[in-house]
Amino acid sequence: MKNSHALVIFSGGQDSTTCLLWALRNFDKVETLNFHYGQRHSIEQQCAEKIAKKLNVAYQEVDLSFLKELSPNALTSQNEISLEGGFKNLPSTFVIGRNALFLTVATSWGLARGIEDYVFGACQVDYSGYPDCRQSFIDSQAQTLSLATDSAVKIHTPLMNLSKAKTFQLAQELGALDLVLEETHTCYMGERSVKHEWGYGCGTCPACGLREKGYKEFSSWL
Ligand code: ZN
Repeated sequence: MKNSHALVIFSGGQDSTTCLLWALRNFDKVETLNFHYGQRHSIEQQCAEKIAKKLNVAYQEVDLSFLKELSPNALTSQNEISLEGGFKNLPSTFVIGRNALFLTVATSWGLARGIEDYVFGACQVDYSGYPDCRQSFIDSQAQTLSLATDSAVKIHTPLMNLSKAKTFQLAQELGALDLVLEETHTCYMGERSVKHEWGYGCGTCPACGLREKGYKEFSSWL
C-alpha cells in the first residue's frame, strides 16, 4: 500500500506487539497509540514505550483512567483474577465496553491525522470469551465509525484467527521472535523478575498460562 499510514492500538503485550510488527511490514508509515485505563500495574505500558523506541515508531499515550471508575473488573482493581464470575459470567478481567472505547478514541485521534487504517490485536481463537474480540464486533465497529465520521475506517486484525502458538509463529516469520519473548509483557500480575522460555511472568495467572501453552505448542513445530 503506497503512502499508506496506519495506527496500531498498542499495549506492549505479545499480541499488539506482533500487530505492530505486521503493520511495519504492510504500511509505509506506522504510529502507535497506548491507552492507560487504570490497570493494576504499569509494567505493560513501560514495555510498550521501550518497544516503540526500539522499533523507531511514534508512540502516544492517552489517559482513559475513568474506565476504572465505571465498572469493577480484575484488570483495574485487586479483585480476584478468575476465568468466570465477571460480567455475564465472563472472566473477571473483562472490561465492559473497553474495545469499543479504544477503537472510537483511536479513530478520533487518527482520523484527525488522516489515518483510516487501524490495527488491533483482537483474536477470537484461544480468547477468553470476550464478545468485543469477535470478528462480528470488529466489522460492526468499523462500519459504525465510518458512518459516524463519513470516512472509510478499516480495522485490521491480523491475529483474529490465530492461536497463541500461531501468533508466536507470525512473530518468527516477521523476524522478531526474540523481541516478543524479551520485551513484551502479558502477565496480569505485572511480574517481570522471573524469565521463562516463553517470556517474563508469574507463571500462574491465566495470561501466563495461555502464553506458556502457546509457546510450548509453537516450540513443538520447530
Ligand atoms: Zn502471570
